[in-house]
Amino acid sequence: MPTYEYRCEVCKHTFSLVQTLAEHDRGKVICPKCKKKEVKQTVSTFLTQTSRKS
Ligand SMILES: [Zn+2]
Repeated sequence: MPTYEYRCEVCKHTFSLVQTLAEHDRGKVICPKCKKKEVKQTVSTFLTQTSRKS
């Protein structure tokens, strides 16, 4: 499952969530710290393609 990175616009807390695509599509993300819904997705570090270890 993909990991999404989010940042809370209220308390600036950043966190990552493992969500299914369906959950992500619904977009119901709540800040785990202040419980507000003013949360924005940030660029995921998951997309870095430098894993050459085998
Ligand atoms: Zn917050």
